[in-house]
Amino acid sequence: MKNFFIFTLLIFFVFLSISTLESKRGINLINGTIVTPEKIIKNGVLTIEGKKIKYVGNDTLQTLNGISINLNSSYCIYPGLINNHDHLLSDVFKKRNNFYGLADIDPFIRPYLDKIYSSSQRNQFMLYGIYQNLFSGTTTVFSFDKFTENLEVPQTPIRILAEYNFYRHYPLTKYSITDKEEAEYYASLSRTYEKPFSIHIEEGLTNVRTQELGMLNEWGLLDNYSLLVHGIGFSREDVDLISQKNASLVWCPSSNIFLINATAPIDYALKKDVNVVVGTDSALIGSINLLDEIKYADKLYQNLWKERLEPQNLVKMITTNAAKALKIDKQVGSLEAGMLADIIIIPYDENHPYESLINSEEKDISLVLFEGKPKYGDTEIISFFPEENWNKIDICGNEKYVVVDIKSINDSVNNLVGLENAAPLFTCS
Ligand SMILES: [Zn+2]
Repeated sequence: MKNFFIFTLLIFFVFLSISTLESKRGINLINGTIVTPEKIIKNGVLTIEGKKIKYVGNDTLQTLNGISINLNSSYCIYPGLINNHDHLLSDVFKKRNNFYGLADIDPFIRPYLDKIYSSSQRNQFMLYGIYQNLFSGTTTVFSFDKFTENLEVPQTPIRILAEYNFYRHYPLTKYSITDKEEAEYYASLSRTYEKPFSIHIEEGLTNVRTQELGMLNEWGLLDNYSLLVHGIGFSREDVDLISQKNASLVWCPSSNIFLINATAPIDYALKKDVNVVVGTDSALIGSINLLDEIKYADKLYQNLWKERLEPQNLVKMITTNAAKALKIDKQVGSLEAGMLADIIIIPYDENHPYESLINSEEKDISLVLFEGKPKYGDTEIISFFPEENWNKIDICGNEKYVVVDIKSINDSVNNLVGLENAAPLFTCS
């Protein structure tokens, strides 16, 4: 009887240890080049346990039980990208050639507002914008939409943040930062909850617009919580003030040039160590995704300031700097033990890992992991994760897989806005 008891106990412990192992099954990414992005680790080992990164370095003894993906030095591993300014609800609309300023957005979007605002269809709109971001390796989006605040989007494969936005009021042309009480309300929430206070500011060069930063500062609301979007009208003195107050500047170059044909003084902001980050703005006036936006930023910087923006700096604007601006740099934005496993893998150019990311397109992304779970990738790599509900998608002639029925989202959005108005889900060069 006693032996039987010990035997039962033994079996119980064996089961317990197997199930613990099973629940802690890790993912090991071996031999790739890890771009943290502060430093580069060749022939690296990156392990993931649950939602978090467990180890980053060169020690192969650190590998965990579970899935091991040998990348054979031909791939680079980066943090998931962070888009600091988007409007998920209007990403479904393609860029209009007949827009000449903010004034043109209002009449175009008005007939669709009922559909956008209706709760049954809102998620379809949101998911469309969300998957545009995912296909470019973006795992965090700060969205400037009234309805994204506290909004749960079922099935979202990435992180959506929307707190705290200081809303622009319709009609857009008459808008200026005049509502001090409302600004104070959102700024105080941001300080209480340690979240950014996002504001469209100086999106133009008129007398009214170029006073907006001064006004915000007079109200005592310019500080390290401020996420200043656009800043086209910023002078050098404004940039000095932003630097002194440790605020972050969100650069949306394609939207700025499209609408205003001018952009913020980024060269001077970088000289003054301002935390510069990048946003796509909505697809209606900006880019479909961050990979498009950083290529645009790279070219525009060269055109305007006659020198190359360091590729590593550009990569930081969509990773480490971006996370700092959103006050989530302890969780995401770089590849370190203890951080959330938001990771992308792309083919590697041995000598130029930062440039490789800038030159990448949606078709090049081999894997996107969000909090340790695979969401999008190549046939070869996703075969390591057979338990996911994969749906095939053709990205510019390349077979990829994604964890959602993307065709049904695409069809329903095309029905809602008309094929002729819909922005693409991804771009092909
Ligand atoms: Zn915007």
